[in-house]
Amino acid sequence: MSTAYLQCIEERCGRPQDPKKDLQACAFCGGLLEVKYEFEEFNPEEMRRAWHQRRLSGEPIDRSGVWRFRELIPFLEPGDRIISLSEGSTPLVGTRRAGWWAGPVHLTIKHQGNNPTGSFKDLGMTACITRAASRGVRRVGCASTGNTSASMAAYAARAGMKALLFVPYRQISAAKLAQALDYGALVVEVGDTFDEAFRLLREIAPELDLYLVNSLNPFRIEGQKTIVAEMLEQRAWRPPDYIVVPGGNLGNSSAIGKGLRELKELGLIEKVPRVVVVQAAGANPFYQMMTSGANELTPVERPDTQATAIRIGHPANWKKAQRVLEWTGGFVECVTDEEIFEAKAMLAEDGVGCEPASASTVAGVRKLVRAGRIPWHADIVCVLTGNQLKDTEYIMRHRSESQESRQRLRVEPDLDALRKALDVALGVPA
Ligand SMILES: *Cc1c(COP(=O)(O)O)cnc(C)c1O
Ligand SMILES: [Zn+2]
Repeated sequence: MSTAYLQCIEERCGRPQDPKKDLQACAFCGGLLEVKYEFEEFNPEEMRRAWHQRRLSGEPIDRSGVWRFRELIPFLEPGDRIISLSEGSTPLVGTRRAGWWAGPVHLTIKHQGNNPTGSFKDLGMTACITRAASRGVRRVGCASTGNTSASMAAYAARAGMKALLFVPYRQISAAKLAQALDYGALVVEVGDTFDEAFRLLREIAPELDLYLVNSLNPFRIEGQKTIVAEMLEQRAWRPPDYIVVPGGNLGNSSAIGKGLRELKELGLIEKVPRVVVVQAAGANPFYQMMTSGANELTPVERPDTQATAIRIGHPANWKKAQRVLEWTGGFVECVTDEEIFEAKAMLAEDGVGCEPASASTVAGVRKLVRAGRIPWHADIVCVLTGNQLKDTEYIMRHRSESQESRQRLRVEPDLDALRKALDVALGVPA
């Protein structure tokens, strides 16, 4: 059996935590926590074969792209019930036009929008809610304006827990709010900013006996890191040169780095891909810190981008992400909303839809290739974090008049009128 415990990530502290409590921060110094394991011995070849075999199984635990790799997240205790919605197992799809546009590079998409609630947050949520259930939790809470809410609401419903969502007044996208309501969450609209809502949630959580499921929860990172095992299996365990992710709270980049480090320690990979984080230019505190050589992150007071999923001025996990970049030889880039928009359009030409935050990855690759920091023909996996349908307002808002007139016809219900209109639109000679 492997064993699991929480440990502070601060070098000057690094202390293990009381295993009976699931804290959000170090009890001694307030630092970030991570889950550590004493892994049991295992043979990489046998392990790969076992994971592969489970793809044929009909058991829910094997059908989940997270729990199929359960040897990598051995924090379950005997009798724990797994709260899963068959998350993960997302496709790895090649690109033609987008890779040419961004490079030329060999660009592959790992599409996390193909998850039960439409974003990569489901990978972390199955792990975190499973842990909460094992602790007998009845109520979970988070502050979020986006995908975390939808995901938490779904997994809490599945586990029979009450879900409390704190959101700034009138600032949550229609699709994401609808998801949370549909899954029966209690939505509390409070404050004008995300930070205000989050602060109030943290203050009231102890009185309400609330288990917090925000980005500081180290068990979310555990679920999210399994993306690396799944991606490498899909590539016959041949690591790419780069893995590119958008950076908001920096949980995903931290998770991918932790996943890579453990796969290497366990002998499952030799070469480690460089992890590249892409932020929006209007919400780029991590970019500013890393490029200026500062030791501390300075929050961006008024983060501004239409890529709402990465509109975050004070990322909780910056220290973990900083280590990931150092350890993998990766870097951070930032892109404008204009560049994000172009990248999203190029992906659409390959038949790949996503939410704006996700497209920042491909925009970042283009910029890095042009700057000579990523070589031509590099082997790159971009992680598209969210589904196209999460933000249809964005799509409709950005349609030009000429696109509308070329693509949308309003026709009288009459066969002749229809023929005429289509002849013009399709360019068929009359
Ligand atoms: C949450 C989210 C991000 C940002 O991920 P972090 O882990 O906060 O850096 C990016 N894209 C989408 C679609 C998201 O939902
Ligand atoms: Zn500490």
